Amino acid sequence: MSRKALLVIDMLNDFLEPSGALYCGDESRKIIPAVKDLLEKYRQSDAAIIFLMDSHKPDDKEFEMFAPHCVTGTPGADFIPEIKTNEGDYLVPKTRFSAFYETDLDNILKQEDISEVHISGVCTSICVMETVADLRNRDYPVVVHEKAVADFDPESHAFALKRMQNILGARIKP
Ligand SMILES: [Zn+2]
Repeated sequence: MSRKALLVIDMLNDFLEPSGALYCGDESRKIIPAVKDLLEKYRQSDAAIIFLMDSHKPDDKEFEMFAPHCVTGTPGADFIPEIKTNEGDYLVPKTRFSAFYETDLDNILKQEDISEVHISGVCTSICVMETVADLRNRDYPVVVHEKAVADFDPESHAFALKRMQNILGARIKP
């Protein structure tokens, strides 16, 4: 038995809307159709759908490095209008780059008996790569969908894809 999970990372207004607090750039908007396609495909295949959502307190330490963004309860922390969640999807708030840090993700993957994890969202070199690293530390096979991840920095994007493949052992699906 192999059950898949689709992770959708940070498809939120503050990252994807040009007026958002930490807009990830035009490359990030280009992945929206690919992320929607993956959602449709993996819903049909009965995969577990898991949304990770940056969700910060107004005085989060992360704001010493980055402009305040995705403050819990503000419109910036909401999903972009193109992304619809369904009943039965997992919505997992997170406060750090890795989707495992002080979240339920570990338990969810175990409860759902997940044996392969598929990745989409932003940013390739930040939350995507940190989450992939922690998945690989747990020995999950990981598939990163290249057309469904993006970064505000093209060099970091390319480096992260290469590192996730060559060092972390993820499969990069074109
Ligand atoms: Zn954040």
